[in-house]
Amino acid sequence: MVSSRLTNLHPYVPGEQPKDRIYIKLNANENPYPPSPKVIKAVRVAAKKHPEKLGLYPDPDSNELREAISEMLNKSGGVLCRANLEKGKKNGSGAIVTPSEFDKIPFVVTPDMIYAGNGSDEVLSFVFYAFFDSDRKLVLPEHTYSFYPVYGGFYNIPLAKIPLHTDWTLDTEKMLEVANQENSGIIFANPNAPTSLGLTRDEVREMIKKAPHDKVFVVDEAYVDFGGESCIPLLAEFQNLVIVRTTSKSLCGAGQRLGYLVANKELVEAVTTVKNSLNHFPIDFLAQQAGIAACRDAGYYVKCAQNVAFERDEFIDFLREKGWNVLDSQTNFIFCRKDGVSGEEAYRKIKEEGILVRHFATKGIEEYIRITVGTHEQMEALKEVMENL
Ligand SMILES: *Cc1c(COP(=O)(O)O)cnc(C)c1O
Repeated sequence: MVSSRLTNLHPYVPGEQPKDRIYIKLNANENPYPPSPKVIKAVRVAAKKHPEKLGLYPDPDSNELREAISEMLNKSGGVLCRANLEKGKKNGSGAIVTPSEFDKIPFVVTPDMIYAGNGSDEVLSFVFYAFFDSDRKLVLPEHTYSFYPVYGGFYNIPLAKIPLHTDWTLDTEKMLEVANQENSGIIFANPNAPTSLGLTRDEVREMIKKAPHDKVFVVDEAYVDFGGESCIPLLAEFQNLVIVRTTSKSLCGAGQRLGYLVANKELVEAVTTVKNSLNHFPIDFLAQQAGIAACRDAGYYVKCAQNVAFERDEFIDFLREKGWNVLDSQTNFIFCRKDGVSGEEAYRKIKEEGILVRHFATKGIEEYIRITVGTHEQMEALKEVMENL
């Protein structure tokens, strides 16, 4: 009954969402804090004052949202946890946000440099469709966001998976060598998942310089707001750079399904063409309102990102004291292992105590667990469990 295409699909497996019991959920890199109160208010007001809008098609190109996203990027420099806050409430709401000196973008990001879609997973899917062909191998690290190989399979794009160095950093030289042999594009997450390590902006710049200039180079910045270095400033130098970002992690919005990319206008237009050939209205009216309100209250999310970074660093210190081997993290998660405890066993024992973390059965990373950074209370509860492992 099904197409031959379907038999070749290998779907993505997300972190589990069990219903049998209430767990502390530290397995999907969601943000432990709720969205800004202004987001809740915007959704309520929109539904109440403009119920007719729920019966009409939304703005297909999310123009107001793209404007709000570009303003937020200009204000924050694209890395929330390092942005400066002036005044505002204790939780950052309403504060004036300015970029840290280090993150200042040397040009103005304009709405025509933004494409917004139904979660960055959808944005990534359109990027794969728009820019990568089945006649050459797309280059990516062996361990990175596990949706990339799924899309490779979906669109029949062959992949060259380049093993990481033994210290889990990207083998950028090998990636470039293969990309030049194939004359193909490159994609990776920066900071990378599930390793939590990032390349500096200068390192990415050197990479793009040496990569094929007529092929698209994708940097997925899903986690950059927690302490990485954004490559948005590099858009002034490179026409082939595409930066993918999401509101799911740093903007406490995984339930809203909003993602976007930042690139030069021509590439935004190419992705828009894919969108208009597949799903003309990817972002519903309420999600657009929520996204706009979130971007306009960047100060609140600066606070959230700073809290997450603080809890993360404290928890890493704790784990190292207890003999765990922990990678440095620029993200909202921690990648770690301990001699004498298998990844599977650690995952299972933590789950028995009511806390979910992520374990990957994938060869090469099976000894590790990935812990999403939660609130202070959640991390204290996890400390008690992990102390005795
Ligand atoms: C979470 C994540 C995404 C997906 O984000 P959504 O916007 O929720 O679809 C994309 N890339 C990476 C690296 C991620 O970790």
